[in-house]
Amino acid sequence: MTAWWHKDPLHPLIKTLGKDKVFTTAENLALYGIDATTFSGDPLAVVLAESTEDIQAAIDFARENELSITPRGAGSGLSGGSVPISGGIVLSCERMKIIESVDSKTKTAIVQPGVVTEKFQREVARYKLFYPPDPSSYKISTIGGNVAENAGGLRCFKYGVTSHYVLGIEYVNSEGEVEQTGILSSKLSNPDITSLLIGSEGTLGVFSRIALRLIQIPEKTVTLTALFLKSEVGLESIDEIINLGLTPSVMEYIDRKSLTAAANHIGVSFPDQAGVMLLIEVDGKKDEVIDTLHQIEAKLKKNALVVEVAEDSEDRDRLWNLRRAISPSLVRLATGKIQEDIAVPRGKLAEMSVHLSEISLKRGVEIAVYGHAGDGNLHVVILYSVYNQGEIKTAKLAAQDVYEAAISLGGTITGEHGVGCAKRDYLHLQLSDLNIQLAYQIKKNIDPHELFNPGKIFPSKGSWKSSSSHTSHSNL
Ligand SMILES: Cc1cc2nc3c(=O)[nH]c(=O)nc-3n(C[C@H](O)[C@H](O)[C@H](O)COP(=O)(O)OP(=O)(O)OC[C@H]3O[C@@H](n4cnc5c(N)ncnc54)[C@H](O)[C@@H]3O)c2cc1C
Repeated sequence: MTAWWHKDPLHPLIKTLGKDKVFTTAENLALYGIDATTFSGDPLAVVLAESTEDIQAAIDFARENELSITPRGAGSGLSGGSVPISGGIVLSCERMKIIESVDSKTKTAIVQPGVVTEKFQREVARYKLFYPPDPSSYKISTIGGNVAENAGGLRCFKYGVTSHYVLGIEYVNSEGEVEQTGILSSKLSNPDITSLLIGSEGTLGVFSRIALRLIQIPEKTVTLTALFLKSEVGLESIDEIINLGLTPSVMEYIDRKSLTAAANHIGVSFPDQAGVMLLIEVDGKKDEVIDTLHQIEAKLKKNALVVEVAEDSEDRDRLWNLRRAISPSLVRLATGKIQEDIAVPRGKLAEMSVHLSEISLKRGVEIAVYGHAGDGNLHVVILYSVYNQGEIKTAKLAAQDVYEAAISLGGTITGEHGVGCAKRDYLHLQLSDLNIQLAYQIKKNIDPHELFNPGKIFPSKGSWKSSSSHTSHSNL
């Protein structure tokens, strides 16, 4: 019989895991009720798992008590993926940060889900190996979160996204059982559901170990920038470089508004006439890099105002600081920003840029644009005041215009940030009801109790608060 002082419904969970792994104070619930968007939820408890067994215990408790589980990494998501529904359990893997093995012979590694992306990159570099996926949030995001979002990043054009590097996943299912896929399974066979789990946004299970593919570290890397008068010219230059048969590792596009904000933020200046900047990086074998660099420089110089190559690592760091300052500096321009993440076929980038200027004019909203142009992935930031209901409404309408423009060009409403709760109500713009239903049936088969991350991707039970829908005030 349970004593009266053990009437706390969480008591069995605390008894199993210990009170240093289960948190219920108002501060902790608030902290783990948000991510890098302005969505928020009120969880019942936060569990900081330290092992696969801890994950199992939390899942068993949730299932038996009909509570939901929202898996969480670093909470840097930009689609509300790790924001819990009210009354659910946040299951954070941030303490599971052991790099179990790095094998230079097979070029593979096995990690726990809470390993921070940058830390992993640094660790494998000690073996002269390279883990290319590099979301701009790499200093804080976790491998578990990257896999669950199939994160992209700056080097996608040459190296692909996270899914290209995942060789197997260990996860805990809704029955609390540990399952392994890919090379983590002793029974390597088809069908391999690894690819189903990648990008599942915490809706199918909780990853407890991840096997990753590594490649040889590039011999040399050079970074260059080109400033152009007009966006369209800059964007067309990207196509021209690719049409030469060249494959830079990074091809970033930064419009004037983003450039001005970032430059002011870090205290650098750039020529007044510049309307857009391309940040390009080339890596590989030394001779190839030099040759590619010369070809790119020659091509850019035809239309650019200025083309400059970073002379040394200090210059390179300065350029990367500028690029990484964009998101935090745009936050300072307005009290609210809707951060969209559309992608279009690369050849349509210039056309998309014209659409964006038209939307800005038509709706009377300020729009800043930057992103991984090599992939056709643009981050479209719509600025507004959170204190002005009219501006909030207009910003949302502009966001819908942006989705529709991207789709009309054969693109997508989410290039890399995922659907979460931010875009689930717009998914129908892109996918047929049949396809959404099909995906939902798969989810229900794998998670019959609908334990994992309800309300994400698919409309279902859930309640979040967001003054202005999918807005982000990220200061990261
Ligand atoms: C400044 C900034 C720059 C960014 N740049 C990029 C970029 O260039 N490219 C890009 O793709 N994204 C980018 N992002 C978005 C974000 O960083 C990525 O989506 C990242 O992968 C999230 O990792 P996380 O550890 O923070 O995960 P969280 O935000 O905690 O969670 C993200 C999703 O993963 C699920 N999840 C987390 N851990 C697990 C687990 N162990 N098992 C199952 N599911 C899990 C969660 O339920 C949630 O749905 C950026 C974000 C910021 C704030």
